[in-house]
Amino acid sequence: MISLKEALVKSEEELSEIRQELKKRAEANGLNAYVAFDEAGEGIPILLKDNIQVKDWGVTCASRILQGYVAPYDATVVEKMRNAGMAPFGRANMDEFAMGSTTESSCYGPTLNPHDKSRVPGGSSGGSAAAVAAGEAIAALGSDTGGSIRQPAAYCGVVGFKPTYGRVSRYGLGAYASSLDQIGPITRSVEDAAILYDAIKGHDPRDSTSAELTEDPIHGNIDPDRKLTIAVIDNYVEAASPAVRAAHEEAVKALESEGHRIVHKELSNPKYDIAAYYIVATAEAATNLARYDGIRYGRRCEEPKNLEDLYFRTRSEGFGEEVKRRILLGNFVLSSGYYDAYYLKAQKVRHLIRDEFNRVFDEADLILVPVAPDIAPKLGELADPLEMYKSDMYTIAVNLIGLPGISLPIRKDADSGMPVGLQLLAKAFDERTLFDGAASLERSVAYSH
Ligand code: GLN
Repeated sequence: MISLKEALVKSEEELSEIRQELKKRAEANGLNAYVAFDEAGEGIPILLKDNIQVKDWGVTCASRILQGYVAPYDATVVEKMRNAGMAPFGRANMDEFAMGSTTESSCYGPTLNPHDKSRVPGGSSGGSAAAVAAGEAIAALGSDTGGSIRQPAAYCGVVGFKPTYGRVSRYGLGAYASSLDQIGPITRSVEDAAILYDAIKGHDPRDSTSAELTEDPIHGNIDPDRKLTIAVIDNYVEAASPAVRAAHEEAVKALESEGHRIVHKELSNPKYDIAAYYIVATAEAATNLARYDGIRYGRRCEEPKNLEDLYFRTRSEGFGEEVKRRILLGNFVLSSGYYDAYYLKAQKVRHLIRDEFNRVFDEADLILVPVAPDIAPKLGELADPLEMYKSDMYTIAVNLIGLPGISLPIRKDADSGMPVGLQLLAKAFDERTLFDGAASLERSVAYSH
């Protein structure tokens, strides 16, 4: 499939043929990456995760509870895409309400990894990443609350970019954890990621957490020859699988050959990140999901006996297992008597994590770390929720402190043939340096799709 850059110069007639082709491929591949092939008229087709609103389209967050809901307005990212000559095309499968790391919790059934159909594509933006990797989409948007753009990108061998918190408006994004959520691109190259990011970024008065900062376009200004200091986190690498360690070694060599300086650092055990993240994320999720009461949105249970029965059955029938688990956990950590012990403490841990990263950034422009501890797991392999949460160890600190991160494919693992990705992280709002480093790493490892 053509790149987003190539698509920029295609006529509407050619783009309409491309839309046909994308749909044909998706149907032939049978990865279950798309949940719908909705079209929105002229423009470069961009696949959207099914938690981003397009006026008059269904949007379900892959949940039964939102079946039948039709979006009344465009998300800001959609409005901005349209202004840049792009049009939403199709809705991508995902974990229900973006809660998960495998896309197995979707009410539409799992998406399969295009490199090995017995494996998951990662999650929660698994449909977006699988479609881009399989040439069923030119580019896609995902959302990243704790790794959901970067991790599926790594498992599928594509580029996934999570911008700094506040860079991209969340207006029209189905909320999971509002202090962590961020929309970003999934593409086949760093350049395409920059093009899509430039299109969707910028201040939005309709999102109170949107940053009032302007940024020059990244695309056209990337400097892969800039020499940077890049920190590697030794204790993170030691905890990863041989496949990931091999990719890390290769990336470090490649970065050195590009003339960057590598410095070795350590960060606290990421088990603290996991504990803090799963308190903050579930607390915010419990609050955000309270709105699905069977009255205001989507689905309602049949013949409720009274108001309590309506709430109870609508939510019991509408939410899946993982979402229920998180609502319970979130309400627990917020309840009186536990609030200080869990929620408040987790908020304090966020500050400690920020201090630690800042100390590394005192000496380095970028940080290179794994995205996941191993290659994409097999379907069903992470059925134990705690095991699944642990697989997020390298991605969630970034969301807890709002940093930008980009995941890039580095190599294919020799044993399994599966892609291995690594991520570069930058200081908040330093996307420019992040893209310079990413372009340099991309050209020096030359991953072949
Ligand atoms: N796997 C993490 C979670 O389940 C992150 C998901 C995400 O980024 N949306 O919460």
